[in-house]
Amino acid sequence: MIKAYQRVVLGGGFPNRERAGCPGNEILRAMAFRKLGVDQVNDWIEHLGTCSPCFREYTEFRRQVCCSAAMGGLRMNHLSSSSGSLAQK
Ligand SMILES: [Zn+2]
Repeated sequence: MIKAYQRVVLGGGFPNRERAGCPGNEILRAMAFRKLGVDQVNDWIEHLGTCSPCFREYTEFRRQVCCSAAMGGLRMNHLSSSSGSLAQK
């Protein structure tokens, strides 16, 4: 799977101008936000490895997921570190 990704990114891509067999924007978004079942995701992951437009859209959605998760994580870290220092005293 990772090799397929590298091939798409480094190998000049797989231009799929007609977007033949593409899942479409909503599916890609649902995948990125983990709203799809594992079976469905596995079907489309393979497609992403061979379709640059879908791959780009998917990584863009993943970036959005990643950013919101990172913000939540920072808040969590702050809370746990302050309660941790209290516990040490
Ligand atoms: Zn596609």
